[in-house]
Amino acid sequence: MSGWWNVARVLDDGASLDEFDEVLRGLESAIPDEVADDFTLADASGELRGWESLAARIDVRRARLMGWMVELQTQIDVERWKVENGTRIEPSASAVAGLRAGARASLVDTMTAVCGGFRGAWLDRARLGTAPESLAKTLQPAVAGGALNVFQAATLLKESEELDITAEQQSAMVESVVEHARGHRERRGVPVSQPLFRSRVRKAALEHAGPVKQKKAAHERRRVKMLGLDDGQAGLEVRGAQPRVEAAMARLDAVARSAKAAGDARTLAQLRADAALDLLIFGAPAPDAATSIDHPGEGGWPPAVVNVVVSAASLLGANEVPGLVEGAWVDAQTVRELAHARGSVWQRIVADPVTGYAMDAAVDSYRPTAEMARVVRARDGHCRAPGCLRPAAHAQLDHVRERRDGGPTKGTNLQDLCTGHHPPKSRRHWSARMDDTGVVTWRLADGTITRTYPMDYRDFGIHQVDHAVPDCPVAG
Ligand SMILES: [Zn+2]
Repeated sequence: MSGWWNVARVLDDGASLDEFDEVLRGLESAIPDEVADDFTLADASGELRGWESLAARIDVRRARLMGWMVELQTQIDVERWKVENGTRIEPSASAVAGLRAGARASLVDTMTAVCGGFRGAWLDRARLGTAPESLAKTLQPAVAGGALNVFQAATLLKESEELDITAEQQSAMVESVVEHARGHRERRGVPVSQPLFRSRVRKAALEHAGPVKQKKAAHERRRVKMLGLDDGQAGLEVRGAQPRVEAAMARLDAVARSAKAAGDARTLAQLRADAALDLLIFGAPAPDAATSIDHPGEGGWPPAVVNVVVSAASLLGANEVPGLVEGAWVDAQTVRELAHARGSVWQRIVADPVTGYAMDAAVDSYRPTAEMARVVRARDGHCRAPGCLRPAAHAQLDHVRERRDGGPTKGTNLQDLCTGHHPPKSRRHWSARMDDTGVVTWRLADGTITRTYPMDYRDFGIHQVDHAVPDCPVAG
């Protein structure tokens, strides 16, 4: 068991990087490559529970490191704030809180870029790591001991913060949920389920904040969120008052069932989804599938601005290389239908055959500022932050070398950044340099150096001709 003891020491006390490496090597050799022949289901489950328990302790260590990074970055930012404001007086508590929030957001973006994975997971770790000591001393052992997971701990922090209650009330609320989860785990040998956790958070909010504040905070969390953009499908999550959402679901169900009763071949699940989108886009459910949004040729596309990138070869039908619709790959036929739809505006971009990058001179343009933006947009294609693919059409033009530092307004000093990735750079936690070919070298908050490149139009099969060009369809 000495190996496990070492892991615990490294995670709990912090150890030198050398000790950490040694434990890591020991751990690597302790992870079996194969499952033993005589393993039973219970054996496999036992090993999995061991890894889960270790993962929980690792999560707490991750959280504490994130918290430590945020604190250090905040100290650096406070010093910089004093220099920039020409003062030796410390900033106010609320100014420090603002700097800390900025540091946390930048470090979450940094670790998402450096380690990958979901931004939300890094945000949860940062939340747990930056919690006030009075809450951290309850929550961190609860996560390490497996009573709550890091996601639940972060939810509890976030929702208790939104309640507009005193620090004492917040502590009491957090303790009551943790106490219940720990007792549940001890008595039953398994952690609280997610539904049980949710119901205990709600009960604790009612008890410690009262029904008025609980209701107000919950009501303020209503929103619409778009999810996933990988296989040409995406999700839409609407959060609102439960009776309203139930009423909306009941209406979708009624529409779906009446269509089904009238002989529609779609499944109830498909009918509910089609009816929901039809109602949002057209204000009424479409009578049959042919007029739904999946059939743009039938005039079902809504009047909206849709950004499409496609090669001329694919547009003309000389190949079937997919194109981008709002930053997501979509099959060539659908892209052609969109590009030829009534009212479409085309912008010609000529790409360098060697690099695949857009060539400045080839972008059709009129006014100087609009021209510059168009050239940059064509070159970048999407947000230039590491790992981001949000379409340039929704991005802001950023001076790579900031204007306040004397950066000129010209193509080789401009890049597209989405609204999420502008702030870490404005806060000077991330810095960037651009070379003459448009390659951007980033330095992230932790010192990681990484590069991002202009859009590579070779991905669109610009020189690929698979079959003769059919008669060119005429745009409406
Ligand atoms: Zn971005």
